[in-house]
Amino acid sequence: MLFARLRETLHTLRFRLAAWVALVAFLVVTFTFIAVRELVRRTLVHEFNQRLLQDAVDVKLAYQQLYPDREQFHTAMNRKAQDHPHVGWFLQWYDGDGNLMWSSINAPKLPPPREVGDEPELRDAGEFRTAVARLDEPGLPTRIARLGSTWHSVEDDVSLLNRILLLAGISVLVLAPVGGYLLAGRATRPLAQIIATTSKLQPRNLGERLPLRGTGDELDQVSQTINSMLDRIATYLESNRDFIANAAHELRSPLAAIRTSVDVALDRLRTPDEYAGLLQDVAEECGRLTNLLNRLLLLAEGDAGRLVASGHQARLDKIVRESVDMFEPVADAQGVELKVSNLASVLVDGDEYHLRQVVRNLIDNAIKFTPASGRVTVELATDGVRNQAILRVSDTGVGISAQDLPRIFERFYRADRSRRREGGPGGSGLGLAICSTVVSALQGTIQVNSQPGQGSVFTVTLPLVSS
Ligand code: ADP
Repeated sequence: MLFARLRETLHTLRFRLAAWVALVAFLVVTFTFIAVRELVRRTLVHEFNQRLLQDAVDVKLAYQQLYPDREQFHTAMNRKAQDHPHVGWFLQWYDGDGNLMWSSINAPKLPPPREVGDEPELRDAGEFRTAVARLDEPGLPTRIARLGSTWHSVEDDVSLLNRILLLAGISVLVLAPVGGYLLAGRATRPLAQIIATTSKLQPRNLGERLPLRGTGDELDQVSQTINSMLDRIATYLESNRDFIANAAHELRSPLAAIRTSVDVALDRLRTPDEYAGLLQDVAEECGRLTNLLNRLLLLAEGDAGRLVASGHQARLDKIVRESVDMFEPVADAQGVELKVSNLASVLVDGDEYHLRQVVRNLIDNAIKFTPASGRVTVELATDGVRNQAILRVSDTGVGISAQDLPRIFERFYRADRSRRREGGPGGSGLGLAICSTVVSALQGTIQVNSQPGQGSVFTVTLPLVSS
């Protein structure tokens, strides 16, 4: 249990952020520690060396000025040894052959220096760093001076610095993960809120939205994105619910009609003509049911992305010609003139059955919504520049009002339900939805222009088959 909780904590974003902060802090502190320590140590050593070399020059000057009075020279050098800031500073005084003649206080026992040049030179002797120089002054005996001191002062300074840096480093290393953990907690708190809210969401209850803090940061953007995704899902689910309810409603009418015909047939013994009439009704309703189901299936295929052209090609002019021929008797019966103004030979990507649905729905609607002595014109042209086919179905019918216009491609939407024609295809508000689904699956467009009382023009564009 405890182990599981620990594992859970180790996998949290908060913990990982804190761990990263700690790691970065560790690397920065270590690097800074080494760099500062090395820089300071080198500076101190350099100063230490410079000081010794400067001391060698000072001793040479003192030798020139004071040596004739040896006592005064020795006293001055002993004072220097006492007051010198370097711990254990000393001077050793040799004759030209390297015999020790005099040592200042604090001077350690060291073997005499060999091969000493005129210029002051730095040499290490045991735990001491020394500067040695041969002094050949005119009028004075040759002497060799060795002065030096221990490293203690440098080492003391460096170890003090080490302690300070170590203390600062440990503080940073302790504080960084703790601070990082607290800060990461603050930063990830909105995430916890996002998780809590989204885990409560149910398909039935998509009303809740994530709160926005108004900071505009990435987490706010995540919340905003999730909120707009929820909006889209809610709209989609709602339209799906409406779709199912509408579909059930549409299926119910033909089923009820079939049921009635069957009930009438079973009610009592009937004449063969009566049975034939009732069976004819049943057959007609079955036809309507099949037609409706085919339309619903086509829309479902479109939703599932299965209406894409996938290698099929069709002669659109042939489909238009057939459809016009098919609707001619209907138009005649309604007193509507149906004519083809232009019919370019056009090959497009797409399944013939689906394209036929588009052309038929448009012609059917145009005739349906055009009163007697009106005119329906079908035109098929090509646009070479855009490499597309343009199908235009115009009518001089009732037109579509401005408030209906944006909605006519919605499923089951009918601008004027009272116009619904009994029997025959269409009338369920699915025709234009099917047109739009098929056309967009084939990478085309469908548009409408309409003036109430004057008529409508539906324009479909489809990409031509590239030769
Ligand atoms: P339906 O199957 O009921 O015809 P559609 O989806 O084909 O459904 O059309 C939706 C609605 O758009 C129709 O109910 C009608 O109000 C309007 N509409 C479609 N085409 C025309 C047209 N040519 N003239 C006037 N109204 C039209």
